[in-house]
Amino acid sequence: MPRLPTRDNLNPKQYKALGMSTKNLIRILLPAIVFCGLASCAQQAVAPAAPAAPVAPAAEARPDSSILWVRDSAEYAALALQAYTSATKDLRGMIADPLWSALPDQTNAAGLPPAIIFDVDETLVTNVLFQAQHEPPFTNRKLDEWNASTTAVPVPGAARFVDFARGAGVEVFFVTNRPCEPNEQDPCPQEEVTIDDLNEAGILADESNVMMANERPEWTREKKVRRDLIAQNFRVIMLIGDDLGDFIPCTRARPAPPCTEGATQESRKRDTERHAAYWGNGWYVLPNPMHGSWTTVE
Ligand SMILES: [Mg+2]
Repeated sequence: MPRLPTRDNLNPKQYKALGMSTKNLIRILLPAIVFCGLASCAQQAVAPAAPAAPVAPAAEARPDSSILWVRDSAEYAALALQAYTSATKDLRGMIADPLWSALPDQTNAAGLPPAIIFDVDETLVTNVLFQAQHEPPFTNRKLDEWNASTTAVPVPGAARFVDFARGAGVEVFFVTNRPCEPNEQDPCPQEEVTIDDLNEAGILADESNVMMANERPEWTREKKVRRDLIAQNFRVIMLIGDDLGDFIPCTRARPAPPCTEGATQESRKRDTERHAAYWGNGWYVLPNPMHGSWTTVE
């Protein structure tokens, strides 16, 4: 307990310097003294056991931030619009230049009609709502069923650009790695679903311009095979996609013909840098942090 200053325990000079009476001091200090006393008691008493906290129900799994970003952010939409605005600005010049091709090894470009090759998922339509809801692990069948039972969500700017390109006389092709999985009635039921998805997103498509993986034996997930086939009859003026494999061959961990070696993080970065002149200049990338061939390379 603090000792109160009184006339008895202070010398006269100290007492005078305080300029107040002991009574006044007590009036000021009493609340503090009482508080200190109580606090001291409380510290000495044994604290009662806290009641057990109620067990919170398990929180619902929250989608990871890459999915939330695509689903919720305006920045995602802005980047998609940026890609399609860049392509819109470049289109007329690339149509007009008879030697321009967005395929580095296309040597027959002169005189051929112009075409653009689009990927489908996360390029023209987004499956982010599926990504946010599906139970892992991912399977193509789950995505098929979801695509067949829901209305496709267009990527911002995509349908408008496809219309613009077609209006300018450009042929468009949809080269997707959605695989054909034949059943007894249909060699590729997934193709109809893909065509429906594109149509729902405001993009006219049919069997003549949709090219699925496995639709022919040589159409592996390595898209170069299908790009080269289109390039036999068209000058490919633009490539538009969300995965490095939509632009550059041999970007996958597991190689498919004509690739003989698996890609690595290092080889992908090297190839990307080697083609620096094409990015935003014939090659237009849509943002997709959720999935892609980048996730399996080391
Ligand atoms: Mg894609």
